[in-house]
Amino acid sequence: MPAVKRVDMHVHVVGNGSRNSGCWVRVRGWHRPLAGLMLREIGLPRGALKADLEELYIERLLKQLRGSSLGTAVILAQDLVYDEQGRAMNDAGSFYVPNDYVLELAKRHPEFLAAVSIHPARPNALEELERCLAAGAVMMKCLPNCQNINCNDRRFTRFWERMAEAGLPLLAHTGGEHTIPVVCREYADPRILALPLECGVNVIAAHCATRSGLFDPEYFHIFAGMTRRFSNLYGDTSAFNVPIRGRHIPECLREPLASRMVHGSDYPVPVHGLWAWLRGRLDYKTFRRCAREKNILERDYQLKLAMGFPQATFTRIWSLLRITNP
Ligand SMILES: [Zn+2]
Repeated sequence: MPAVKRVDMHVHVVGNGSRNSGCWVRVRGWHRPLAGLMLREIGLPRGALKADLEELYIERLLKQLRGSSLGTAVILAQDLVYDEQGRAMNDAGSFYVPNDYVLELAKRHPEFLAAVSIHPARPNALEELERCLAAGAVMMKCLPNCQNINCNDRRFTRFWERMAEAGLPLLAHTGGEHTIPVVCREYADPRILALPLECGVNVIAAHCATRSGLFDPEYFHIFAGMTRRFSNLYGDTSAFNVPIRGRHIPECLREPLASRMVHGSDYPVPVHGLWAWLRGRLDYKTFRRCAREKNILERDYQLKLAMGFPQATFTRIWSLLRITNP
C-alpha cells in the first residue's frame, strides 16, 4: 500500500429509501434495461431496485473497494432538478441522493469521503452550502445538463466565491449523457464552467467533456483549450472504459493535460477493456487478464494503469479535496 491512498473520486451511490435514507430512484423507458445492466455489472440482482437497495449497494461497494488497489472513494450526492426561478422540477431527474445520506455514510465508513450536491438556484443554496461545509463535505457535484444549471448565471457568483473561499472543489458533468435524462443539452459544453473558474473554484470536468453517444457533439477540444486558460481546471477519467468516451485517452496521457487528470470510475457504470484493446491501447494478454477481474473498481484501475496513466493520476485529487480533519 502506498503512503498516500489511491482515490476513486467519482463513485455514485443510489438508494430507494429503504433505510429512511431519503433517496429515490425512478427509472423509465429505455433507461430501465440500462439500470439492470449496471446492477448486474456490480454483482447485484435486478430485484435489488425493489429490495433493501441501500444496504445491498453499500455492502457491495465497500467489499469491492476493500478488495481493490484503491483506498478511498468519494461518494456523490445528487440534488433535484430546479428551474431558473429556483423551483424544484419534480417530474425531471431519475434519482435523488440527499447530502445527509453521503455525509452520514462518510462518518460511518473511513473509506468514504462525501461529495455533496447543491443546485445553486435553490432558494437556500448558500445555507445548504454552509451546512455541508460544517458537516465535512470534501467536494460538490453537479450535472449542469441534467440538473438544469447555468453555472455562468451571475446570480450564482456569491455561491461560487464561497466555494472558492472554503476550498471546496466542483466536480461537474461535461459532455453528453445517456444513463440519466438530459434537461438542457447545451449545458454539456464545458464553457458553462467559466464563471466558477473565474471565481477561483478548482473545477473538475467529469469525463473531460468527451462525447458519450455517437451523435453527441464533441467538446473534448474545448475542454483541452480551457485548461490552457485556467490553471484551476482539471478533468477526470471516469467512464473512459465505455465504448466512445475513451477516444481521447492518448491526449490525456500527454502533457499539458496529463498533470490535470484525476482518477474516477463513475461506478456503477460498466467497465470493459474491449474498446481499449480494439483501439490498440492494450495487448491481448492484458485485455484478457482485466476481463477476468470480477471487481469492477479494480478492473477499471488495472485498465487505466495498463493504458499508461501514471500513479499520480490516482492520488492527485488529494491536493484538491477539502479535507478538514485528516
Ligand atoms: Zn457520474
